[in-house]
Amino acid sequence: MFSVMRDLHNYNYSNIMIRKIITYPNPILKKIARPVINFDDELKQVISDMIETMFDAPGAGLAAPQIGLSKQLVIINTSKKEEDADHKAIALINPQIYDGEGSESAEEGCLSVIDYTAKVKRFKKIRVKALDASGTEIDFEAEDFFARVIQHECDHLQGKLFIDRISSLKRGLYKKKLKKILAEKENEAKIKKRIVKR
Ligand code: ZN
Repeated sequence: MFSVMRDLHNYNYSNIMIRKIITYPNPILKKIARPVINFDDELKQVISDMIETMFDAPGAGLAAPQIGLSKQLVIINTSKKEEDADHKAIALINPQIYDGEGSESAEEGCLSVIDYTAKVKRFKKIRVKALDASGTEIDFEAEDFFARVIQHECDHLQGKLFIDRISSLKRGLYKKKLKKILAEKENEAKIKKRIVKR
């Protein structure tokens, strides 16, 4: 698997931009992403922006639909430690998990699902086929946390969030909690507006 690691963070693109992360229940997150066809500078720019956005968040991974792009593209954080100054990431394009074995439950969160984590069952070990930023096919095995992140990010490309993989009871409770959070935020924004007007 180490052969596919690329230090994409060192791409030399002048206008790297931190993109806005879209959150649930935005319907964009429910859409199935389109395959990437063009391996051009625009794609490399998007990859660079996504890497920057992921490290800024910070997150273990980021899928293109999370920044509002319908592209089969995910970024996976491969830095050894969170505080690792030498940020490393890989881009997986049109990824396919074509084999999986074992299963494991662990706590998951998502940059697009605010204030919530839950236990999710995933394959322990997977085999992945994808293209890299230059369009070269890569094929590798992933295990444990690395495999979990890839499965989570690939779900985003199918319009699926980790909360779609928990019980409807738990999901219902989260929806209620989220309504409250969003209502409070809206209220705060209104108060701020009023203050600004004065
Ligand atoms: Zn996510």
